[in-house]
Amino acid sequence: MTAVRTALVIGGGIAGPVAAMALRRAGIEPTVYEAYAGTADGVGGMLTVAPNGLDALRIIGADEVVRGIGQLDPKPRARAKSIAIWRERLARERDLPRAWIISDAAIFAVAQANPGSRAALGALDAMPANFNDAFAASLLQTLHEQSTAPVTDLNPSQDARPTAEQKALLARLAKVVDARAAELQVSAELLAPRGELKALAMGARDSHALVGWRREEIGNRLLESLV
Ligand SMILES: Cc1cc2nc3c(=O)[nH]c(=O)nc-3n(C[C@H](O)[C@H](O)[C@H](O)COP(=O)(O)OP(=O)(O)OC[C@H]3O[C@@H](n4cnc5c(N)ncnc54)[C@H](O)[C@@H]3O)c2cc1C
Repeated sequence: MTAVRTALVIGGGIAGPVAAMALRRAGIEPTVYEAYAGTADGVGGMLTVAPNGLDALRIIGADEVVRGIGQLDPKPRARAKSIAIWRERLARERDLPRAWIISDAAIFAVAQANPGSRAALGALDAMPANFNDAFAASLLQTLHEQSTAPVTDLNPSQDARPTAEQKALLARLAKVVDARAAELQVSAELLAPRGELKALAMGARDSHALVGWRREEIGNRLLESLV
């Protein structure tokens, strides 16, 4: 029997890339095909990963990364993503294991500290003392380029806590939704789930409540309350 060496994976959602990573661990080289040309940045709000989902991510060694990303605020989250893309590119170009370039823990530390110089980068506990100078220069360049790019994923992390002012705004938005839901005789959750109202109160503007039929029924009223 011929040993399988390559695989085609159709779909770059959650299942496709996870399957591809599991295949690679099994010694099979996968290629993922996705119908959409770009990433889904800024689309949707948040994704809760259930314990069985985390178990699946643990098998491919991605559970800690996903957990960590979920706890970052938008700007450090955008930086962490840029650093992960930089590491991936370098790992492919040089055919090196990712962890040899920079560890996951270091990605989070750098994303949070946002060092502006070689000295500040080297001072981070998570950075190895012998970190390659050329890697450091290109990492700092990546951070600099990222700082001038717009942050498209503006949703606060699920764990972010609203301030007192944002809580008061959230209460006002909830009242607007409750009143409209009573008028339409539908559930408030259908018009705008609580999580979306929290995101709106905390500054996100890519809510489902602001597009399509929801914009008509509730979005415009919410926007009036936000100004
Ligand atoms: C509003 C909403 C909220 C949700 N919230 C949660 C949540 O909090 N937690 C949770 O666990 N789940 C949640 N889900 C469910 C979760 O999104 C799905 O279970 C999950 O996305 C399924 O992953 P998947 O990779 O199997 O499929 P998908 O994410 O649907 O990915 C399939 C991919 O395949 C691509 N594709 C399809 N056909 C082709 C083709 N012929 N060629 C190339 N590419 C193709 C598609 O473009 C797509 O990118 C939610 C779903 C919705 C709609």
